[in-house]
Amino acid sequence: MTDESCIFCKIISGEIPSAKVYENEHVYAFLDISQVTKGHTLIIPKSHEKDVFELNEETAAELFKAVPAVATAINDTFQPEGLNVLNNNKEPAGQSVFHYHLHLIPRYGAQDGFKAIWEEH
Ligand code: 5GP
Ligand code: ZN
Repeated sequence: MTDESCIFCKIISGEIPSAKVYENEHVYAFLDISQVTKGHTLIIPKSHEKDVFELNEETAAELFKAVPAVATAINDTFQPEGLNVLNNNKEPAGQSVFHYHLHLIPRYGAQDGFKAIWEEH
């Protein structure tokens, strides 16, 4: 399932360029264009499902199965001290791209410049 007007579907197809962190048959992970901290990464399913309320169980399983591999790739490249895994659903919760995604936000201690996603809305 894809949505022609969706920027993340365009990233999966390569129509919009992105910096790939990880990919398998079901998911694609890439650097967020607006880096909350160094290495801020998004993981998206290759199937277009808007939010957690639309996400089917198999898609959710494949997405979360990939989280440790993406976290390891981030660790190997950026060596953070910690990592947040976040997800916004629907506009009042801060969602701005309506293709389900997880934010992986590396943390480097108290002074890492982290700005909570929800504070920006
Ligand atoms: P949301 O606010 O929906 O939870 O997160 C959407 C994220 O997608 C934002 O952090 C935003 O910076 C990122 N984003 C939006 N457009 C693009 C793009 O064209 N390329 C990349 N790499 N990230 C994008
Ligand atoms: Zn999409």
